[in-house]
Amino acid sequence: MTMMVALQDIEAARRRIAPNVLRTPLRLSQALSQRTGVPVHLKLENHQHTGSFKLRGATNALLCLDENARLRGLVTASTGNHGRAVAHAAKAMGARATICLSALVPTNKVEAIRSLGADIRIVGHSQDDAMLEVERLVRDEGMCFIPPFDDADVIAGQGTLGLEVADDLPETALVLVPLSGGGLASGVAAAIKSRLPAAKVVGVSMERGAAMAASFAAGRPTDVQEVETLADSLGGGIGLDNRLTFRMCRALLDDVILVSEEEIAAGIRYAALIEGMTVEGAGAVGISALLAGKIKPDGPTVVIVSGGNIDPATHRAIVSGLDRGVVP
Ligand SMILES: *Cc1c(COP(=O)(O)O)cnc(C)c1O
Repeated sequence: MTMMVALQDIEAARRRIAPNVLRTPLRLSQALSQRTGVPVHLKLENHQHTGSFKLRGATNALLCLDENARLRGLVTASTGNHGRAVAHAAKAMGARATICLSALVPTNKVEAIRSLGADIRIVGHSQDDAMLEVERLVRDEGMCFIPPFDDADVIAGQGTLGLEVADDLPETALVLVPLSGGGLASGVAAAIKSRLPAAKVVGVSMERGAAMAASFAAGRPTDVQEVETLADSLGGGIGLDNRLTFRMCRALLDDVILVSEEEIAAGIRYAALIEGMTVEGAGAVGISALLAGKIKPDGPTVVIVSGGNIDPATHRAIVSGLDRGVVP
């Protein structure tokens, strides 16, 4: 068993998924550049089909399956965006998808998945609860599980975003990447460290329930309590039986930074008012870290804006300053 996803796997994924995903823009933020004193570029995965980078990994994983597995039906558990990506990719290939969600997943995400024609099961109050239903469907109905992050094909797909950054900005010194289960961070760091060995890659998670940071501290995959956060797409554990992302993130990330709920709210507000973009909490954490001065970049910086699927009412409340983030 290989322990890492390699550059050639990511390059193969890029060729495989090219017809199905957008090559998203890398846009200079004049305001953030002025504020930090280095050029800051935003990688706009909020403009990806389905509103997040998750389509890259899901599409690659589905295209790597054999026809029989696809015909048995696909199943996954998700904080929303992976489920939407699997539903979208399955529809494009004429396959059936069942998406298991916990009651913490925001309604806008549930509705978006439903409108793609997927079967939805709402189970329990955590990703772990939703995963139990996935295991049952795999066992009893023979469905094929598409993991949200701890899977070589998913990681390779997410890594394609890192290749685009390396092509578009070879002078990149720092990449800030939102971090939850670590599929995105593993893929992006593998691509960046191979193509731009001098660049640093730093993960950003929320203070409330940062599973990868807790696992680093413990030296092994560790559970954290899943609590409500504005960065809802970063919720959930990394899996106690984690096979790939824990090791890859530990080997490849230079650091992990945590941001508070108020800082996430400030990042969302800044994206809306200054950059004119709708960004969800998980997608804003890199901006939050820069605004809060939690990292001081010393060269050209790329912030991965990983998604834009935020509930409109929540977004309005945050932008108007009425919602300052989940109070612990
Ligand atoms: C899933 C997700 C992340 C985190 O990705 P992981 O691979 O689980 O670390 C970050 N941002 C958004 C918008 C997501 O949907």
